Amino acid sequence: MSLEVEDKMLDTPETQARPTSAAQGDEVAKFRAAVISKLTYAVGKNPAAASDRDWFLATAFATRDRIVDRWITSTRQTYSEGRKRVYYLSLEFLIGRLLFDALTNIEMLETARSALGDLGVDLDRLRQVEPDAALGNGGLGRLAACFMDSMATLSIAAYGYGIRYENGLFRQMIKNGWQQEYPEDWLSFGNPWEFERPEVYYDIGFGGSVEAIAIGGDRKKQVWHPAETVEAVAYDTPIVGWRGQHVNTLRLWSARAADPIRLDAFNQGDHVGALVNQVKAEAISKVLYPSDATPAGQELRLRQEYFFTAASLHDLIRRHVDSFGDVRSLPDKVAIQLNDTHPAIAVAELMRVLVDESDIEWDEAFDITVRTISYTNHTLLPEALETWPVPLMERVLPRHMQIIYQLNAKHLEKVRAAFPGDDALLGSVSLIQEDHGRRVRMGNLAFLGSHSVNGVAALHSELMKTTVFKDFYRLFPERMNNKTNGITFRRWLYQANPGLTNLLVDTCGPGVLDDASQLTKLEAMAGDSALQDRFMAMRRQNKVALARLIRDRLDIKVNPGALFDVQIKRIHEYKRQLLNVLETIALYDAMRANPAKNWAPRVKIFSGKAAASYQMAKLIIKLANDVARVVNDDPTVRELLKVVFLPNYNVSLAEVVIPAADLSEQISTAGMEASGTGNMKMALNGALTIGTLDGANVEIKDQVGDDNIFIFGLTADEVEQRRIAGVDETGSIRNSQHLGEVLDAVGSGVFSPDEPDRFRPLVDALRHHDYFLVTTDFDAYWDAQRKVDARWNDRRAWWQSSIINTANMGWFSSDRTISEYAKDIWNVPVRTIR
Ligand SMILES: *Cc1c(COP(=O)(O)O)cnc(C)c1O
Repeated sequence: MSLEVEDKMLDTPETQARPTSAAQGDEVAKFRAAVISKLTYAVGKNPAAASDRDWFLATAFATRDRIVDRWITSTRQTYSEGRKRVYYLSLEFLIGRLLFDALTNIEMLETARSALGDLGVDLDRLRQVEPDAALGNGGLGRLAACFMDSMATLSIAAYGYGIRYENGLFRQMIKNGWQQEYPEDWLSFGNPWEFERPEVYYDIGFGGSVEAIAIGGDRKKQVWHPAETVEAVAYDTPIVGWRGQHVNTLRLWSARAADPIRLDAFNQGDHVGALVNQVKAEAISKVLYPSDATPAGQELRLRQEYFFTAASLHDLIRRHVDSFGDVRSLPDKVAIQLNDTHPAIAVAELMRVLVDESDIEWDEAFDITVRTISYTNHTLLPEALETWPVPLMERVLPRHMQIIYQLNAKHLEKVRAAFPGDDALLGSVSLIQEDHGRRVRMGNLAFLGSHSVNGVAALHSELMKTTVFKDFYRLFPERMNNKTNGITFRRWLYQANPGLTNLLVDTCGPGVLDDASQLTKLEAMAGDSALQDRFMAMRRQNKVALARLIRDRLDIKVNPGALFDVQIKRIHEYKRQLLNVLETIALYDAMRANPAKNWAPRVKIFSGKAAASYQMAKLIIKLANDVARVVNDDPTVRELLKVVFLPNYNVSLAEVVIPAADLSEQISTAGMEASGTGNMKMALNGALTIGTLDGANVEIKDQVGDDNIFIFGLTADEVEQRRIAGVDETGSIRNSQHLGEVLDAVGSGVFSPDEPDRFRPLVDALRHHDYFLVTTDFDAYWDAQRKVDARWNDRRAWWQSSIINTANMGWFSSDRTISEYAKDIWNVPVRTIR
């Protein structure tokens, strides 16, 4: 039997029975009329001439209408009940497409499908027309999006605050195996979800000077005279929770010049010069900054951070004072969560507002600040911990720099009193780094100004106490806590995998949709062969869909019966895509040497973007593509191995790949991945994980049990020990059965005959300073993969493990995560669904 996929099979779309009850007929008719009305009066088209994009806009407008009434009700209730509000400040919101999100949460997906079907329009085709709102780089931004969904679901009165970037994360194309970046102008055809609020804007100052004004006695007041102001204009997107009971606001700021045009210059013929201020001001919200550090554009990044933080604080303080009269009650009615250090300047800005603008004494202002703000740390990588050069801060934010100095002086005074003579401690907890040029440490600022500092997985939170915040932990042990990340099941299960969702409802009962812990009912049935067959059939459907996408985009045929082995995430050396590519090569060699062995046929699927300036990561992408070409062209392994690099990884692509994954690659160097959430998405959909004991993999292992996950490699402690001891890693290459040959092949140009030295930098790094311990873990990884083969070949065992994974992933719902934030950090009530 040939394992090559039949073309015909891929061309036959799976049809799912979607019964519409008679009771829904009325709703369908109403929605159909609403869409026609929107098409006519909001889009300005008649049905005969409408394109898919027009239909998409009309459908989105009709859907939005259904949300707006509930939105207004939610907002009014929050006001009238005087509820405490949560403000989630994040420089990134990776929300992706919203049509299915909104329709799922208001439970109108099938209604909309029927209504459009009556009009001869296919809702699933419209889904593809919506551009991805890629306002983030990866996990951090996606977490913020999942949290928005869960906060609305749990009826927490919350706002998300961020920047409305005109260009989201770049669009990745692969040309001749290399990554190329293109702008992502997601707004070019309009955004039907947002409401522009031109009347809601704040003047945000930059630069200038600070004047000390005497205000009687020897008291002085500091007045900041910015040299430049930029207007922050609000754009609101309603975020509706599960079952539509509560709607929150995602408020994104756009930069607008206070003086858009110099008419005098324009009239004198200097048409470009007349617009210079506008261009400079509006640059702030033009592009999402690639977080993966480059020195270029540093100042713009700092301006972005202050811009959205200051606008958000002004907005929430105005709302608070309108409702409650006095800024002093802020901590009782407001919780501000900083998603990483990007909004950490909030500590200094809130102090400035309280002290300079509200005339509150310094110590009281600081008390208010600390009780209001809390901070989430996302990384232990030293190079990713934000610091700003003091001269830059002095130039862009002179008053904030003064405040930071003053905060620091008082802070260090207390530390000196509590730990006399401990100069090392003083140096490490200072807000200012004194070596290598003076810099402001934003992590320390965020820590000092917060009552809660959390990590994002149990291991990560523990490591924070011994690494980045070791010394702060001595000062404020009670502040540090853990909030293991989660994902919203609405998007990553109900929308991405409706087939599996129906199966879970059939098996666990409809209550599982509201209470993910009911998934555990599956566990007792994991050995049931009928259930296993249904799981298998569902996965098969999703794999056929992915195989079709791979064929359409890459012209590669893959067999849906093979094991789909998936690594999708940002390309980064610590995530070790290179380890996976090297194992792929070793596997390819072994298969060629012995094609008759009972290998598990595999499709290795990679997807992810590299930061534009990250040369090593881009070279890894090229290697994956070069290996793919060689492997896919080799007839000896035709039935056994295919390698696929899917371009332009984003939320929408993830929604297709994740439900089709059999094996989830989570193989970071232990201690370096804070949590991961891709790991949760795939395990929830029934993929088995191959991974290191890193981030949330540790907790996934605890939930699913050692027998249902493939853990390998060094632990975080062992990595740390080896680095401290400076262990020479070249021994691992010598001792490995496969690795030496693989590296020789890569280094000598077997996969790059047109440029034999192309991959020398990768190989040299591994041979001489293997910082990410790829070679050290290689053999353990290889062995774990062979255990995967064995499990795959025992079909019953594989599907039992798969079911047990899904059964035990309920804890990773972001509803659980957000409930913990609400109770432990924000002190706000949550309402359970129904
Ligand atoms: C979930 C997600 C991520 C995070 O993936 P990790 O494997 O946790 O790094 C990144 N990008 C997108 C588009 C995602 O959906």
